[in-house]
Amino acid sequence: MKINILSPEVYNRIAAGEVVDRPYSVVKELVENAIDAGADAITIEIEGGGKKRVRVADNGSGIPKEELRAAYHPHATSKLSSAEDLFSVRTLGFRGEALASIASVSRMSICSKTADGEAWELKAEGGVLGEIVPSASADGTTVTVDDLFFNTPARLKFLKSDAQEEGDVSAMAARFILSRPHISFTYRINGKVRYRSFGDGLESALINVYGPSIVQNCYEISAEKNGIRLYGFIGNQNFAKPNRSYQTLFVNGRYVVNQTVSAAIANAYGNYLMKRQFAFYVLFLDIAPEAVDVNVHPNKTDVRFRDNQVVYGNVYSIISSVLDGNSRALEYVVSRGTSSAEQESAAPAPGENAPAGQENAAAPQERGSFSIGQGGSAAPGRKAPPMRQMTAEEARRELAFDVTPMGIRRDPFPAPEVMEVRSPRVPPQEDAFEENRRLLREAEEKRGREKLDPQALVYKGELFRTYLIYEAGDTAYLIDQHAAHERMLYDKLQEKMENGTINVQPLLVPYICNANAQEFAFLQRSFGALRALGFEIEEFGGTSVKVSALPAELTGMDIGAFFSEVLSSMETLRAIKLGELLRDKLAGMACKAAVKGGERLTEEEARALVRAMDGDMGLRCPHGRPVCARLTRAELEKLFKRTV
Ligand code: ADP
Ligand code: MG
Repeated sequence: MKINILSPEVYNRIAAGEVVDRPYSVVKELVENAIDAGADAITIEIEGGGKKRVRVADNGSGIPKEELRAAYHPHATSKLSSAEDLFSVRTLGFRGEALASIASVSRMSICSKTADGEAWELKAEGGVLGEIVPSASADGTTVTVDDLFFNTPARLKFLKSDAQEEGDVSAMAARFILSRPHISFTYRINGKVRYRSFGDGLESALINVYGPSIVQNCYEISAEKNGIRLYGFIGNQNFAKPNRSYQTLFVNGRYVVNQTVSAAIANAYGNYLMKRQFAFYVLFLDIAPEAVDVNVHPNKTDVRFRDNQVVYGNVYSIISSVLDGNSRALEYVVSRGTSSAEQESAAPAPGENAPAGQENAAAPQERGSFSIGQGGSAAPGRKAPPMRQMTAEEARRELAFDVTPMGIRRDPFPAPEVMEVRSPRVPPQEDAFEENRRLLREAEEKRGREKLDPQALVYKGELFRTYLIYEAGDTAYLIDQHAAHERMLYDKLQEKMENGTINVQPLLVPYICNANAQEFAFLQRSFGALRALGFEIEEFGGTSVKVSALPAELTGMDIGAFFSEVLSSMETLRAIKLGELLRDKLAGMACKAAVKGGERLTEEEARALVRAMDGDMGLRCPHGRPVCARLTRAELEKLFKRTV
């Protein structure tokens, strides 16, 4: 196909944007080109998180020799020639700027062969083209991008660590596998295969990415309503995920994060999921191209629907019919018969990824255990979902608090205050900062003021089986026994960690955490911190990790809940010091072991608790709540109007 140089009148009407900012966006552009070229086998390889090398090879149409130069030209595209075409875009790319902008910031080579031509290669360095030279290759195109941003150090500096970039590329690769289940993909990281799909259908693709147990936890749906086709897999009522990274939506084959659709789905799941739980889905929404505007976002990760209300209403109604088990559901759920037949033919090769038999986190549900009127295994008599459909405006308002523009929910937990309180123990890293030293000094002084001689505290009893009362001089102290105990456990744990005397308790049955690519990259980076805490944790094939021992202090903790919580804070943890926060999470777990409010302590236990606190009344529990409240004689007298 002829590559056209777009006229300014055309390209100026296309939303301009920086196409390439990170390795994953390079991968995205190259794979989209391969798909547009009609390939049915695509290999993605990265090295050094994609900073060192990204290579995408396809068996598509190839680029004829005489078009090779044009491919590097900005605004050169074979996919669009006039402004009218803009309204019926069906290919993934159409701006003609990806190759040009990648080439200008890397060392790029395109090697290509059409069915009726020879293989030719053209290299560029920092956008400067070389000569076209003969090459040798099978039909199709291989694009290699080395040393991304080698000539733009400022942009290089903005890249994340190799592991983080790799995680994001992997998430992108997973999306492609899911979005094009009939293309076979091979994805290699530093020479090792991470994903391999076989191009034999969605269920197989899903298994390749999420492991074989995933289908047991999902409904496969296929529905058509008012010009909208919605199909794919949605998690059942009990299959909750700790963050949004398990939500994948393709609109007309294009991966998007769209608030209208995600709000519709979230509301359909509303009654089944708790706070901070998120639905799992891999959904395809097909709609007439005229009803969407793909040109809304420079990086093309959102679409604008001509009519948000129609999309919202239909998606909501389809998903909630399935979950609630109303009479429409039979129409929408793909029956067990067909899908299990597909399943047999789609069985993945054992090995590399899709590790078998790992799901012991959640008991797998019978697939297709769906029946009308029962709503799966939801609690009986639960509240019916609202019949009235939310308007797009309402959805937007609701989401405004919940979703950042990236579509990722930020962890609502603020950074724990304990980090501040404990800071005197940690010497400031940059001694040069006088400001820092002053703050530390003040914190230390404040602590000193709040410190009492434990001997001086006289135990006076308890209130509501939760608060212990002590008297010292003219002040009464109320201590939250639970918060105090939690803090004590935390300190003990911290001390043991500092001395390297943590006891490790092997698990009878190792815990397997099946993570997705982003979560896996995050966990990998956390291995050091987790091991320091006494976890025995290692990779377990694909994107799974195995935990075979725990710190003895936490024997009996809900390890699934722990990991789910760690993963749910993934986004925030990136920014905060991981070790500190993990310790805090652990302390939270330790709090399960701590005395609960409502348990009566003996007088001796109550005394022991303040001794353990060493009379420090300024303590906070590891979640930042105060351990102690005080009431002075003067305050009491005011209360009784003895003084004013
Ligand atoms: P766009 O995809 O928006 O057209 P690109 O800069 O990504 O712009 O690519 C420019 C042109 O190069 C494409 O229009 C296409 O003709 C050609 N091209 C790029 N990659 C491939 C490929 N893998 N196979 C065949 N042709 C390709
Ligand atoms: Mg392109």
